[in-house]
Amino acid sequence: MDFSYAPEDEEFREELRSWLDANLPEFKDLGEIGPEQSDSTLRTMQRRQAWQRRLNEGRWAAINWPIEWGGREATIMQNVIYSAVMAEARAPGIYNANGIWQIGPMIIRWGTQEQKEMWLPGILNADEHWCQGFTEPEAGSDLANLRTQAVQDGDMYILNGRKIWISSAHLAKWGLFLVRTDPTAISRGAKHEGITALIVDMEAPGIECTPIRDVTGAAMFNEVTFTDAPMPVAYRLGEEGNGWGVAMGTLGHERVGTAGMSIGLASELQRMIDAARTHNPEALEDPDIRDRIARAWTQIELTRLLNNRALSKVLKGEKNWPEVPLAKLQWSHLSQSLAELNLDLLGPLGALAKGGPDAIDGGHAAYNYPWQRFTSIGAGATEVQKNIIADRAIQLPRR
Ligand SMILES: Cc1cc2nc3c(=O)[nH]c(=O)nc-3n(C[C@H](O)[C@H](O)[C@H](O)COP(=O)(O)OP(=O)(O)OC[C@H]3O[C@@H](n4cnc5c(N)ncnc54)[C@H](O)[C@@H]3O)c2cc1C
Repeated sequence: MDFSYAPEDEEFREELRSWLDANLPEFKDLGEIGPEQSDSTLRTMQRRQAWQRRLNEGRWAAINWPIEWGGREATIMQNVIYSAVMAEARAPGIYNANGIWQIGPMIIRWGTQEQKEMWLPGILNADEHWCQGFTEPEAGSDLANLRTQAVQDGDMYILNGRKIWISSAHLAKWGLFLVRTDPTAISRGAKHEGITALIVDMEAPGIECTPIRDVTGAAMFNEVTFTDAPMPVAYRLGEEGNGWGVAMGTLGHERVGTAGMSIGLASELQRMIDAARTHNPEALEDPDIRDRIARAWTQIELTRLLNNRALSKVLKGEKNWPEVPLAKLQWSHLSQSLAELNLDLLGPLGALAKGGPDAIDGGHAAYNYPWQRFTSIGAGATEVQKNIIADRAIQLPRR
């Protein structure tokens, strides 16, 4: 590992820290809300909208975007500093995370001038909420198997099909969807071809969003059905049939956005220990629990070193491989084991539900335990990551 912070990086860090000192306190309780409960979803979204707008006022909302579109054209090192400082400060979530980190960069990379003018300002200033519609009942880990059809009729595409697990689609005005424009591609054995990226107006006729209740009781996921839904061909992003390239080019664009991961996990562990000191101090005398805390701390430190190694490779122009799938596994394993440890640290009090009069730490432990299960399926399922490591990093023999 060989990297150091240049004076301009330190300046960037200081500028961000002092901006947060001046602007974050009034939004601070946002950090404690956590993933949405259905009854407070609207309130949470309004607060996230206000926070994203404040970030945008300081030009801190979309640091990777070009300067002409309100960004800072941040370097890799500045990205690392940004995510570390935000994690240290426990800054709240934003209204259009998908829009800022994934969809906006896709529009910047592939969109026409008219498309950029139409959509980028609204994403940046949190004027309209965006969702991302990739997954289908038969296309999750095997995303290229997607079948939602778009058939061109004059200057419109007519959409038919079904997407699932689409976060916040019921709140979104716009969505970036992957649709199939060449239905023969799957039977030809070329399923990555014939996919098109299309921006969808979620208020168009023929689109129905049905929220699905998850294991925490919240209902932020949706099934989205298209029944002869018309969408202008002018909303297509990139060439017809190049949707795989559009989507994958930008998912890779996430770069080293995991730099804040170990700081976030360390701060979560500290928060748990503080809550146990106040509410259930005898747990901290238990040798088994003490051992688990020490193991968690060691694993968090290993995660920090893994992220640093990935960064060092990127700075030397190498691929950050296989650190990316390894870090994904570390994140899901640690998030889930911390959530479990939190319940044991608090004892019976930890099970008190969010919103209840006696809930401690906002009911965080009871909520977080089931919620963290998503980390072994979202952003690449655990078994699939292990397959990739076995196949391409360790090169285990195939049967
Ligand atoms: C919190 C959350 C938010 C989400 N938000 C969105 C969103 O906004 N938009 C969107 O498009 N999607 C979203 N998704 C969906 C997500 O992308 C999919 O859940 C994910 O791609 C996995 O697909 P799947 O659910 O169909 O599971 P599957 O791919 O069917 O996997 C099911 C199980 O089989 C295992 N498995 C699959 N393939 C293999 C294999 N080859 N070898 C061994 N084991 C295998 C997996 O590891 C997993 O355990 C979200 C999911 C979650 C959890």
